[in-house]
Amino acid sequence: MITVTIPQQLVNLPENELTDIVNRIYNRVDYEKEYLQDNRDGRYITVSKDDEIHYVCISRPDNNARNARLMQFVTPTYTAWYDEPKVNKFLDIYLSNPTDSDKNNYSKFFYRCFLTIGINILNIDQLFLPELVPFNNYFDLKHYRERNTGRNRHNRATYFSEEKDHIELFAKTFGANQMESFILALVLRKLLPDKTLILFPVVDNEARDIARKQREILLGSGVEFGEIISNIDNRNIRLDSIGPERDTPKYHYNLLKKYGDKKCLLCGCEMEHLIIGSHIERVTDIKNSVVYSDEEKIRRIVDGENGFWLCANHDKMFEYGIIYFRDKKLCYRNGLRDVDRGFINYSMMQADYVDDMQTPFKIPESLVSQQMEEYLSIHRHRNGVED
Ligand SMILES: [Zn+2]
Repeated sequence: MITVTIPQQLVNLPENELTDIVNRIYNRVDYEKEYLQDNRDGRYITVSKDDEIHYVCISRPDNNARNARLMQFVTPTYTAWYDEPKVNKFLDIYLSNPTDSDKNNYSKFFYRCFLTIGINILNIDQLFLPELVPFNNYFDLKHYRERNTGRNRHNRATYFSEEKDHIELFAKTFGANQMESFILALVLRKLLPDKTLILFPVVDNEARDIARKQREILLGSGVEFGEIISNIDNRNIRLDSIGPERDTPKYHYNLLKKYGDKKCLLCGCEMEHLIIGSHIERVTDIKNSVVYSDEEKIRRIVDGENGFWLCANHDKMFEYGIIYFRDKKLCYRNGLRDVDRGFINYSMMQADYVDDMQTPFKIPESLVSQQMEEYLSIHRHRNGVED
């Protein structure tokens, strides 16, 4: 016998949808219904047969607000499914009368995320989108997200990047962002099971840390938790915890917010292992300063204006003052051999901001603030360039 258990808020679910759900799961249309007295957190029913149970999260048909039809219900359903003691348990999604609003880029990205972590979308065929398959690997995930949501989205709920020996995931934990953070952490674990994943919860004024239950699930799947990143201030960063060469997570987060995913500003290299958060005013110099207060030192060390993403080569060229910037324009140290200038020119031919060999590289206006100009002047000064 197939039993469908329905909570209060779903008592008006159309019979034809129930039948369709059961039919898609068991290829049968006979079932008995059981009604619960109370509501459930999350819009889901359960469909069970013998020792098997399906948790089916159902999108809300009466709400066309973008992304509000389904996404907010997935995490509570996941949590309930996670707590289910039966071994044969499945997590499904059913799109109630899917329309074009179920096919926006944001949703498409998350459908693929859901499929990747084993959530089945029962009526996915009704979307007529053959591209909706699980992600093959980390790069597939990265590129699909970039294609669908744009590289430089400033207000992303989450940012992630690959470091030498781990993945960093910066995850806002407040409001609607929770779902995105939670699901992405599970997807990254699934795609990179051998790599340490460190989740840095990003909080703002009213926000607390990630919900207790979600933290428990993520810990259970091997996610590690890093320090809390405040969107508001640097109160929880201690100066003596910052080594001379150490990039702080907060600095990475600020660079991701400003520039988007890791990519060398000068040559466009996107191999994440090779990309460094390159300080303009050096961490060592800031730490050794006798002028700045401790608070000001921390501010400068984590400031997204104090740096760019650079590949290992360009990072060193910049650090050694072989190249520097004046009026946003790239300049070369005096006395550089023609062959070296040629090499540097050539290395930048793939950059976003270079049209041809004749026009010198210029940092786009939109990326340069007064604060950055100050750092760039400090950099010139340190390398003995006259202003
Ligand atoms: Zn580069």
